[in-house]
Amino acid sequence: MASPRERISEILQTLPPEVRLVAVSKYHPVEMIQDAYDGGQRIFGESHVQEMVQKYDVLPKDIQWHFIGHLQTNKVKYIAPFVSLIHAVDSERLLREIDKQAKKCGRIIPVLMQVHVAQEETKFGFLPDELLAFMQSGAWQQCENVSIEGLMCMATNTDDEVQIAREFDRAKELFESIQCSSLRSGADGTMVNGQWKTRSWGMSDDYPIAVQHGSNMVRIGSLIFGERIYV
Ligand SMILES: *Cc1c(COP(=O)(O)O)cnc(C)c1O
Repeated sequence: MASPRERISEILQTLPPEVRLVAVSKYHPVEMIQDAYDGGQRIFGESHVQEMVQKYDVLPKDIQWHFIGHLQTNKVKYIAPFVSLIHAVDSERLLREIDKQAKKCGRIIPVLMQVHVAQEETKFGFLPDELLAFMQSGAWQQCENVSIEGLMCMATNTDDEVQIAREFDRAKELFESIQCSSLRSGADGTMVNGQWKTRSWGMSDDYPIAVQHGSNMVRIGSLIFGERIYV
């Protein structure tokens, strides 16, 4: 099998230049991450707090660690000092906890809001209407130590490419409605905190569809590192 760095360079050749690649390294050893790093990759995604902290401790400090999984509020404090993007904010409570922990660290933590567009009970996230209402409410503006920078979603795990495309389109429409209606304040129309810019969707099986349907950040794991071995 090709090495992680070889896989990454193959994938990068298929991605438009404006699409950022998150190499999802969960369950994979630090040696494989180091190999990808040596090839130039700097953004890595993890979905378990303890695992991400352990890897952060031993790997080069210019890695940008993205937390991509469901994050429990009581664990935010462990990653707040160093995480560079939290992808899956799925409740106002979590947003407030990230804000609180970021304040303690003297940081502003960039986050994405997770929107539920899939037809699966198990996926977390705000429903599109809920999220639009939340953003329009302006309640998030009190969280001065988070920078809300976009949306994250996961499509249904299905072979039906039309359905997957439709779900990504739904997320893209929501991204645009929020951009038009919610993020402006004050006479000059500038955004309150951060930049609304990131659309995180697409994984190993569906990233080509995601890129055609509005994604500018893909989260790819098994295609780079091989199958995960869950122990
Ligand atoms: C594991 C994971 C990925 C990567 O999945 P692959 O199918 O291995 O590419 C992407 N996003 C999230 C949220 C994940 O948990």
